[in-house]
Amino acid sequence: MKRRGLILSLVFLICMVFAAPVLAAPTVNLDGKQLTFDVQPTIENGRTLVPLRAIFEAMGANVDWNQSTQTATAIKDGTTVKLTIGSLTPTINGQVKPLDVPAKIVNGRTLAPLRFVGEAFGGTVIWDPATQKITISTGAATAVQGKLEVHFIDVGQADSILIELPNGQSMLVDAGNNSDGQSVVSYIKSQGINRIDYLIGTHPHEDHIGGLDTVINSFSIGKIYMPKVSHTTKTYEDVLLAVQTKGLKITPARAGESIINTGNLKAEILAPVGSSYDDLNDWSAVIKIQYGQKSFLLTGDAEEYSEAEMLRASKNKLKSTVLKVGHHGSNSSTSPAFLQAVDPDYAVISVGQGNDYGHPHKETLQKLAGVEVYRTDLNGTIVFETDGQTITIQKQRNTIEPRAPDTTMPVTQGIYIGNKNSKIFHKETCSTLPAAKNQVLFKTWDEAITQGYRPCQRCNP
Ligand SMILES: [Zn+2]
Ligand SMILES: [Zn+2]
Repeated sequence: MKRRGLILSLVFLICMVFAAPVLAAPTVNLDGKQLTFDVQPTIENGRTLVPLRAIFEAMGANVDWNQSTQTATAIKDGTTVKLTIGSLTPTINGQVKPLDVPAKIVNGRTLAPLRFVGEAFGGTVIWDPATQKITISTGAATAVQGKLEVHFIDVGQADSILIELPNGQSMLVDAGNNSDGQSVVSYIKSQGINRIDYLIGTHPHEDHIGGLDTVINSFSIGKIYMPKVSHTTKTYEDVLLAVQTKGLKITPARAGESIINTGNLKAEILAPVGSSYDDLNDWSAVIKIQYGQKSFLLTGDAEEYSEAEMLRASKNKLKSTVLKVGHHGSNSSTSPAFLQAVDPDYAVISVGQGNDYGHPHKETLQKLAGVEVYRTDLNGTIVFETDGQTITIQKQRNTIEPRAPDTTMPVTQGIYIGNKNSKIFHKETCSTLPAAKNQVLFKTWDEAITQGYRPCQRCNP
């Protein structure tokens, strides 16, 4: 009965707090600024038409209109664009750039195909059909300067990542377990931050969203992103209640959603690509932050299945300077193909000392050979700072909770028990040990691996 009540209240809350699909006219954002028009963009034969003069002028071009030839001429930085109403052959510096729908006049304004307008002066266009949002970046005007700081906060066996953006805004990805809420809030405040512009709950597991309600109640919040998947727990309900109480709306986190896109600073969601998963971890919002030459890929608990989807959907976007290793270093994430595509210089594993899961798994650490690996269990809170060109790393042990000092990575020595028949090996404490006559003992994990044994899925030696 209690569980049924929780499910009903969750269904109600989800309807209240998740933003409904937008059905209004498409909106246009140019280099981070929302443009307003007297004649709205429209969709014709599946093509989006946008006001040509207003957008060109916002880009800083001079626009001339010849009434007798019905031709618009726009000039910017030595580039001349000519477009005639009804024609499919506009030109850029005399070169024809063919269209598949012509420009037309609506209420005295020229509306032309979006891609043509957005790209005529070398800009890039992102069009999200789900939200009807058009994002045009010219890449020139709004290059931000300053430092990007990414703080992997030590919250034990959980995730919480604070990002101080070079444009002065801030982002928080996850907020640790329920019991971490207050220490995450204190850490953020100690950085002089009193507003979270972008708050992301990667997926509804407690070790990611546990402290989110405390964060929501403690700061002024801009946008909240979470994947649109429910989880029948009190923790999840607490988060939705905090969102609702504050009058906020959750923007569904999904691949293709652009959070920030201003020239040299971008934040984009690369997963979830799909809309149904067996494992809640594969719902994880995966965030790529790019600042100049340096980039961060924050993967939540995304596992192999989601990694494979990202490889199919956006392989060329995965390459990153720093990888937040998926699912606390579990062997269910960081598949070789994914790691190869990300090709990171640095990896961070957010993990608690002596956790019950055996995270990070040794296979994961082996795969990361050649990558500089930082771990919150060994290094405490880890802060990356970059100006877009160079990167520096600070390790701050004992920032959140006192932890035993530790200077070297522990090499686990002990007894491992292999099964001669299945070629699987276990911890001594595993509940599925083979019969004594089938046992073979190994002193080290490496010894078992070298002899062709695989680790047990249950005890994760
Ligand atoms: Zn987790
Ligand atoms: Zn999880």
